[in-house]
Amino acid sequence: MVVFPRAVKFTVGLLCLIPALLPADEGMFPVSEIGKLDLPSKGLVMAPGDIFNPNQVCLVDGICKVNGCTGSFVSPDGLIITNHHCAYRAIQSASTTENDFLANGFQAKTLSDEIPAKGYTVRITEAFSDISDQVLAVLDDEMGFVERTKAIDQRRKELEKAAEQANEGMRAEVAEMFAGKTYVLFLYTYITDVRLVFAPPASVGEFGGDTDNWEWPRHTGDFSFLRAYVAPDGSTADYAEENIPYQPKRFIQVDPHGVDEGDFVMLIGYPGRTARHKTASFLLYEQDVRLPFIVDLYGWQIQQMEAAGKENRAVALKLTSRIKSLANVEKRSRGQLKGLRRAKIAAYRADQEAQLQAYIDSDPDRQKKYGHLLSEINNVYSEMGDAAPFELNLQNLISASRMMNLAFTMYDSAVERQKPDLERESPYMDRNFELTRKRQMLAQQDLDPATDNLLLSGMLDRLAPLPQAKEIDALRVAALTDELRSNYLDSMYAQSWLIDKNFVQDGFEKTPAELKNLDDPFLNWVIELYPHYLELREKGKERNGRLDQLYGNLVSIKQQFQNASFVPDANATLRITFGSVKGYSPEDAVYKHPITSLKGVIDKTTGQDPFVTPQKIIDMYAKREFGRFKNEKLGDVPVAILYDTDTTGGNSGSPILNAKGELVGVNFDRAFEATINDFAWNESYSRSIGVDIRYVLWITGDVFGAKHLLKEMGVD
Ligand code: ASP
Repeated sequence: MVVFPRAVKFTVGLLCLIPALLPADEGMFPVSEIGKLDLPSKGLVMAPGDIFNPNQVCLVDGICKVNGCTGSFVSPDGLIITNHHCAYRAIQSASTTENDFLANGFQAKTLSDEIPAKGYTVRITEAFSDISDQVLAVLDDEMGFVERTKAIDQRRKELEKAAEQANEGMRAEVAEMFAGKTYVLFLYTYITDVRLVFAPPASVGEFGGDTDNWEWPRHTGDFSFLRAYVAPDGSTADYAEENIPYQPKRFIQVDPHGVDEGDFVMLIGYPGRTARHKTASFLLYEQDVRLPFIVDLYGWQIQQMEAAGKENRAVALKLTSRIKSLANVEKRSRGQLKGLRRAKIAAYRADQEAQLQAYIDSDPDRQKKYGHLLSEINNVYSEMGDAAPFELNLQNLISASRMMNLAFTMYDSAVERQKPDLERESPYMDRNFELTRKRQMLAQQDLDPATDNLLLSGMLDRLAPLPQAKEIDALRVAALTDELRSNYLDSMYAQSWLIDKNFVQDGFEKTPAELKNLDDPFLNWVIELYPHYLELREKGKERNGRLDQLYGNLVSIKQQFQNASFVPDANATLRITFGSVKGYSPEDAVYKHPITSLKGVIDKTTGQDPFVTPQKIIDMYAKREFGRFKNEKLGDVPVAILYDTDTTGGNSGSPILNAKGELVGVNFDRAFEATINDFAWNESYSRSIGVDIRYVLWITGDVFGAKHLLKEMGVD
C-alpha cells in the first residue's frame, strides 16, 4: 500500500487502539495494528510486514471491496473471486427466461464475452489517516444534538471532498471508528466498470438455499468470478467497450492444495457492522423490538414474493434477488434472537455496566462527569422502543414497495439537489448521485406491479391501527375498507409514470415543482407524506447526536476503568482476523467436524429445490473423477471449511488465506450460533464458513470446463 505524497497528508493512523493483552482471538483488527498481533506465534509463516506495510506493495493491495462484500484479485488482469451471493444481483439482472444464467450458470470464454455487472463498484484501500482532531474541531459545547450531528456530517463531507480533489479519480470516505471520538479518512481506488466472468448454476452456488443458509455442515459452492476494468489510460471509467482489465498492484496467489483441520487461517476484508461496544439497553432494544419486527415483517414479505413467483419464472427472476437478501437477514435475525436469549448477553453486559457504574460513583469528580451517562444512553433506546411500531412501519412503507421507494427517492433527490452539494444527504451529493440513480433504475427493472401492490397494501394494514398513523391525513388510505383501498391502489398503479422505465432517468432531472406538476399518484402521495419523513430524519439525527456524544464518553470511562483500549467495531473498512480450521460443539453431545466433502453434496441431493445437483456432478462423483483436487484423507473433494475467525456481513467474499498468504477458500457465511458475533464473539460458538478452493477449482475447471480461468490464476 502506498501513502500518497499529495496535498492530503496520510500517515498510518489508529495508534493506541489495542490493549497490551488481547482477548483470545477475538477481533477484526485494523490492518495497521498487524505488528501488535504476534501472528507468527499463531502460525503465520510470511512476514507480517508483507501483509500490510504503508510504504510498499503488500498482500492487502490484492483485496478489494465489491459493493457490500469483499473480493480478491486472483490474477494480474483484474480477475476477482468473490461469492456467488455477492455477484447474485449481476447474474440476476443479466438473466432472462431464454438466457437464464442464474439457473444454468454463466461462463465467458473470452474477455469480450464478459458482461457488465450493472450497479457494481470495486474499491481498493490505498491510504488512511486519523483525522479525529479535524472532525471534532467543529463541535462546541453550545450545540444541540441535531446541530452536532449535522456539523460532524458536514465536516466529514468537506474532508472527503478535499481529499478527492487532491487525489483525482480516487474515492475518499471518512469512517467513524469510535462514535463521537475517532475518525479515519480512507482513500480508495474506485472502479465502476465491473463485469461478470463466471458463475456456477444456482444449484451449486446456492445449493441448500435458505434451508442451509447460516448452518453447518454446508455444501454450497458460493463463489463466482468478476473482473475489474478501467479506461485504456488506467483511469476509472464507466463501462465502455474499449476499457481494459485493471492491473492490481498485487494479486493473491491461489493455492490449490487447500488447508487441513487445525491449520492457521486469516481473513482480510471489509466487515460491515458490529455492536460490541453498545450497552445492554441497546441489546434489549434489538432483542425485544427491532429483531422481532424484522423477523415478522421480512418473513411476511418473503412469503408474498415467493407465492408470486411460483408459477411464473419471469416474475420469479425479478423477485429472486430481493427474496434472497431479505431471507438472509430474516434468518440471521432469528439466529441473533435465539443467541441473545440463550447466551444472556444483555444480562452479562448489564452486569459489567453495574460494575462500571459503581466505579463511576466511587469518585465525586467521576460521578459528576459520568454519573448519568448509562441512564442517558438507556433513555435513548427506551424512547426508540416506544416509537418503534410507528417509526419502523413508516420507514418500511417506502422500502417494502418499490414504487414508493422510487417516488420517495426521486422527490427527496429533487429537494436535496436544490441545496449546496455539501449540505445534501449523502446519496444525492454529486459524487454519489449517478450511482443512486443507476441503482433505482435497476430496481425499477425488477418491478412487478402486482406484487408491489400486495406489499404496499400489507404495509398499510400494519400502519392502520397505530394511533400516530391515524393522525396523519396522508395515511387516510390505510383506513379505507379493503375493497375501496384495493380499487384505489389499483388505479394508482394504472396511472403512474413511474411504471415507465424511460421516465425514471428523466424523473431524476426534475425539480420538486416539476415533479409536483406531473400529478403522478405515487409522487403526490410521497409529497404529502414528505414532512413526516423529514421529521423521522431529524429525530434520527437528534438521537445519533446524543448517542455519539454519550458513547464517546462511555469509551473514555471504560478505558479508565479497565485500563485498556479497544478494537473499534466493524464499519466496512479494511480489517484482518485470524484463527484456525476448527470444529465445534453447538449443543450437548454434538460435535461438528470442520471440513465437508462432495459426498455430503450427493447425500443431501433430493432432486427437489434447494437440493438439486447438476447431473454432471452426480456422474463425476460416481466415477470418482476428482482429478488433482481429491484430498487423500477424505478420498473426496473438500467442499466447505469451518474456522474460528471473527467475521460478520461484509466479510462475504473475503479470501481465506493460509500461513503463507495464499488463497485457500472464500468466506461466505457463519454458523447459526455465530450470528450473534455481531454483538459478542465467543471462542466456543463463533465459527465462519467458507467454500474450499479445491471445490472452486474442481467446479470451475473440471466440471464446467473453464480451464482458462485456472490458467489465468496460475493453477495449470
Ligand atoms: N452470509 C453472510 C452475509 O452475507 C456472511 C456473514 O454475515 O458472515 O450476511
